[in-house]
Amino acid sequence: MSNDCIFCKIIAGEIPSTQVYQDEQVTAFRDINPAAPTHILIVPNKHIASVNDLVPKDEILVGHLFTVARKIATQEGIATSGYRLIINHGPDGGQEVYHLHLHLLGGQKMRHKMG
Ligand code: 5GP
Ligand code: ZN
Repeated sequence: MSNDCIFCKIIAGEIPSTQVYQDEQVTAFRDINPAAPTHILIVPNKHIASVNDLVPKDEILVGHLFTVARKIATQEGIATSGYRLIINHGPDGGQEVYHLHLHLLGGQKMRHKMG
């Protein structure tokens, strides 16, 4: 837990969120400013600031973020219609919160392919 990290506080329940999933490794909650009808953030429970901070022993955890995303996509009814998974890194990637998170976006046709 990082004391000044908003997502660590959400995971710990110190800041309210609309949680959709939690297990021993990850927590998922709805984005406060959704960019699509379904916009969920899937985050590791332990504080990892960004992709640049990943180490080989995190590989199972990172894989788990994706299988949880797939499970939530099914729960949300968007597994067949489609969805987008995004991880932003650093200033040029548009990362605003420095606690690693996978965005799950769906429920509409996404407008931009890239960029
Ligand atoms: P990033 O730009 O770092 O990839 O994404 C950060 C995301 O976190 C943004 O989509 C933003 O709306 C979301 N966010 C920021 N603060 C909060 C918060 O306090 N609660 C929730 N649920 N989402 C947040
Ligand atoms: Zn954190």
